[in-house]
Amino acid sequence: MSAPAGLPPRPAAAAAFSPGGPGSSLEAAAPASGAPRCQNGGIDSSQPVHSVSQNVPFTKPGVGTSASSAVMSSVRSPAPSLSSKPLSSPSVTQSPELALQEGMQYGGYVNNQASSAPAPLSSSSDDEEEDEEDEEAALDSSSTTSSASPVLNNYDALEGGGYPETHSVTSSPVPSPSVLQASKASKPFGYGYPALQPGYQNATPPTPVQPSSTGHHPGFQQYPQQYPGVNQLSSSLGGLSLQHSQQPESLRPVNLTHDRNILPVSSVPAPVPNLNSDLRKLNCSPDSFRCTLTNIPQTQALLNKAKLPLGLLLHPFRDLTVKYLTSQLPVITSSTIVRCRSCRTYINPFVSFIDQRRWKCNLCYRVNDVPEEFMYNPLTRSYGEPHKRPEVQNSTVEFIASSDYMLRPPQPAVYLFVLDVSHNAVEAGYLTILCQSLLENLDKLPGDSRTRIGFITFDSTVQFYNLQEGLSQPQMLIVSDIDDIFLPTPDSLLVNLHESKELIKDLLNALPNMFTNTRETHSALGPALQAAFKLMSPTGGRISVFQTQLPSLGAGLLHSREDPNQRSSTKVVQHLGPATDFYKKLALDCSGQQTAVDLFLLSSQYSDLASLACMSKYSAGCIYYYPSFHHSHNPAQAEKLQKDLKRYLTRKIGFEAVMRIRCTKGLSIHTFHGNFFVRSTDLLSLANVNPDAGFAVQMSIEESLTDTSLVCFQTALLYTSSKGERRIRVHTLCLPVVSSLSDVYAGADVQAIVCLLANMAVDRSVSSSLADARDALINAVVDSLAAYMSTASNLQQSMLIAPNSLKLFPLYILALLKQKAFRTGTSTRLDDRVYAMCQMKSQPLVHLMKMIHPNLYRIDKLTDESTIHVNDRVVPQPPLQKLSAEKLTREGAFLMDCGSVFYLWIGKNCDNNFIKDVLGYPNYASVPQKMMQLPEVDTPSSERTRSFISWLRDSRPLSPVLQVIKDENPAKTDFFQHLIEDRTEAAFSYYEFLLNIQQQICK
Ligand SMILES: [Zn+2]
Repeated sequence: MSAPAGLPPRPAAAAAFSPGGPGSSLEAAAPASGAPRCQNGGIDSSQPVHSVSQNVPFTKPGVGTSASSAVMSSVRSPAPSLSSKPLSSPSVTQSPELALQEGMQYGGYVNNQASSAPAPLSSSSDDEEEDEEDEEAALDSSSTTSSASPVLNNYDALEGGGYPETHSVTSSPVPSPSVLQASKASKPFGYGYPALQPGYQNATPPTPVQPSSTGHHPGFQQYPQQYPGVNQLSSSLGGLSLQHSQQPESLRPVNLTHDRNILPVSSVPAPVPNLNSDLRKLNCSPDSFRCTLTNIPQTQALLNKAKLPLGLLLHPFRDLTVKYLTSQLPVITSSTIVRCRSCRTYINPFVSFIDQRRWKCNLCYRVNDVPEEFMYNPLTRSYGEPHKRPEVQNSTVEFIASSDYMLRPPQPAVYLFVLDVSHNAVEAGYLTILCQSLLENLDKLPGDSRTRIGFITFDSTVQFYNLQEGLSQPQMLIVSDIDDIFLPTPDSLLVNLHESKELIKDLLNALPNMFTNTRETHSALGPALQAAFKLMSPTGGRISVFQTQLPSLGAGLLHSREDPNQRSSTKVVQHLGPATDFYKKLALDCSGQQTAVDLFLLSSQYSDLASLACMSKYSAGCIYYYPSFHHSHNPAQAEKLQKDLKRYLTRKIGFEAVMRIRCTKGLSIHTFHGNFFVRSTDLLSLANVNPDAGFAVQMSIEESLTDTSLVCFQTALLYTSSKGERRIRVHTLCLPVVSSLSDVYAGADVQAIVCLLANMAVDRSVSSSLADARDALINAVVDSLAAYMSTASNLQQSMLIAPNSLKLFPLYILALLKQKAFRTGTSTRLDDRVYAMCQMKSQPLVHLMKMIHPNLYRIDKLTDESTIHVNDRVVPQPPLQKLSAEKLTREGAFLMDCGSVFYLWIGKNCDNNFIKDVLGYPNYASVPQKMMQLPEVDTPSSERTRSFISWLRDSRPLSPVLQVIKDENPAKTDFFQHLIEDRTEAAFSYYEFLLNIQQQICK
């Protein structure tokens, strides 16, 4: 038991949250990790040319060998540096005078981030410094500004600090499982940050709001009651309270220790913000954009009192055009993209029109002109109704951007596969699955006529494949000088998919058998990645790395750091951070060249994912992990890989992307979570963006929000589509501001809170310790419930009471503590733990919640009662069961939906009719151990079961693997570990956890 006495030492990175300019703070965080500065293009691309040490002919089974005489041309010349010319605004025509003035402001702003020194005015290039495209310019020009140094994202920054009310409490006397005892002396996270200044405060203040501007033109007062002017608000705010509307349900006190049935019958919906019906209809879908508090506290002091974290959960690029979604994505092709001249916010449904020609920004309150083109509405073909334009009618829109939003012609889709072909890899047998999947989906890879593709394989050497059109067959080129890797025939390794399709197919057909008899056990992953970086640098694109073991040769080699005896440790868990900065530096280099690295780790033994994952974390890539992968011994993993690959290869992809999150003046974003590179305080660089990526941000309240009743958040994602279009996807979320603590609790979004805390706990685990992170999670519950109970005067202090909005909070936190990421005392392999942490940081809320708290249904007695009808299909809706073995009767069958896996648990005495009708076997004993499909049996119960499961499957982009679990099945352990309400040797039951919380509150 590691109960820290007093405040734990504050790591150097905590300095990142000291007051001061955001730029300097982020800069200050960088050296804390010890990572040296890394420049874009850091890997020298102009090194001396070496000859290829081996030039082995490509051998295809059944085809004779042909001596290859591939020309070893010199390595490519350095990539031409990209233009960083200033761009002019597509939408706003400004007077030169104004432009200059604003340019100064934003020049200063940008440069404040590059260094803490005041920026010379001459550096403010022009009025559009703020634009995403200009930020790209800053990166691509590999200048020595902030973009050239690795401004770490917050994996390295400690959350917390400045906890205002540290009261020391001795550890809990609950005798057993001691691992859950939290010391309140440990700093919680989520509130009390000495906050950063919002970006615009670094510049001269924006144009003050003119009091007269609140006078609405009679004809253009679209949202008089929804968005009152500043003057009206200040008078009305005093009495603003949501008690009447929300008290009945979200504030209803729930006695947690008494009420054991807190789980709703169906999935927990996102709370609906307390807005009037017009705004509610216009608001952003919670599937894309959620806030931990749907009622925003008016001041930081009020937020501190609530003891809840304030932040956003984003799923900005999710699929909006697939079958299971009804929502539409309006795509706007107008030549004029209307944005605020001051803060560059995109016009949105929550701005106010002052008159026919002017609109007021809802983020900075600047009054802007309505451009002439915007007066015409292409939808209604009418003139003079700017408020009816699609941009003002939809909170999620996508713009086709003009060339003003480009630094270079939009890049083609470029895919490079980097494949481990060592003995270990061949033994695992993933190549067959990958090549087959690629062959099946080659025509479905997102792209256009320019799409390019290439392959690199590696063991102790690195092998390249010349696929140039016109060759009779692919040529393999081996480079064995892995200490000084270079590209043989750089021009023919990434080839046009359409022109070289036959050669590509030949290679994919041959690859699985080419290394069958290899005795190479070494893995030169680092050199292969260096080669991949060089190959991709001229264009950017996506690198997909398949690795099956610890890299053992050349740059980036790793050593085993896991002590298997420590897997069940209840104390210190070591090596959650990287062993080397090689992968991070490589990722930053890649990010600088618009290249993301995705990692597929298929390993049977420790591979140091904590180090390898950095290649994806910092390049906006994604991470897939298949422990104990074997193509035949582990059919569940093999099927999962197959399904993941299908989704991976065919899903939408955005290239050379940047994302900026803006919020109403007074709010400030200070910490980002996800896979990306933080380029400036609020700009994320995403070499690739994919529809399955989630992000989270933490916020603080810098200035009190007393002058407004609504706040807004806007995400703008600028990317290049696989068809070569430059597009901007914009989401805008609007939320009310409240002044009372009970209103803050009434609007709490418990799932968003838990997901944000999970992200913060991962950071805390790496930067401080796992024990510290666990304590902080427990304290988050203890503190918020204590704060709530202290405000509700009529509550008996002997009970543990939560507002209805937070009744699931302790349950979800307990579930988090039992996750592989955070658990202690239960044997957990280090890579498994690190992967769970990676998932917490990069999954969208909907997936993360299923991972934290799976849905359990009893399915052996499905009836036609309480069904829903979906596309002529009758779908049963069994109620959710709590995650406890007490629910699992031996007579039943239960389906557990964990997001990417469905477990179908069959009780020993399960009705034979169900086994016969649904599983297609005569009895329990005859059901095979590795059953992964439900047969199509022509019985009502089979139809109901399959209908229910396919309805669940259709609700997500990735089709989950189904695993039937019988008593003897090894996967049973996984299934039972999800029953988080039960007690284990190492952890509390839910009820014990509640008692523990209650004791801590009463102290
Ligand atoms: Zn603005």
